[in-house]
Amino acid sequence: MGEFNKEYYNLLNFKLNKYYIDKAIEQSNNSDRGSFGAIIVKDNKIISKGNNKVTSSNYPIAHAEIVAIRNACEKIGNYSLEGCTLYTSCEPCQMCLSAIYWSRINIVYYAKAREEASFIDFDDKEIYEELFKKKDDRKIKMYHLYNNSIIDTFVRWKNIKLVKYHSFDII
Ligand SMILES: [Zn+2]
Repeated sequence: MGEFNKEYYNLLNFKLNKYYIDKAIEQSNNSDRGSFGAIIVKDNKIISKGNNKVTSSNYPIAHAEIVAIRNACEKIGNYSLEGCTLYTSCEPCQMCLSAIYWSRINIVYYAKAREEASFIDFDDKEIYEELFKKKDDRKIKMYHLYNNSIIDTFVRWKNIKLVKYHSFDII
């Protein structure tokens, strides 16, 4: 790419990103109560929008990103959002970050760093700290209750996958 074209491309990208991040912020302003919003873009089209619905739906995981992911998956009829970009008003929390990985979204742009969200009393610092602790030191206790019958469940699923997806390479 020539120098001029590269500059033009960067400017275009900047303008597009600005347009999409504004749309995510617009969503956050539409939020029922929580002030977070997100949109998902595929092939330069907005395929879904989402805003925080935790308090309005009494659903603790209804963060804007989760809502946008669910809407996008419903729209395209697939659980994979590969090739999609997520624009969000705030840096995703741990749960949303995991959801982004699970959904295979490729790129994320955010308007505010998560540290800056603490001033509206949204602070996920504690959970981030918990992640780096040993399991036994975490606030919420988790215990390994080993049960042999789970092996049967795994074997059954493995066999179903073999037939259904022919996924010999991923088992
Ligand atoms: Zn979140």
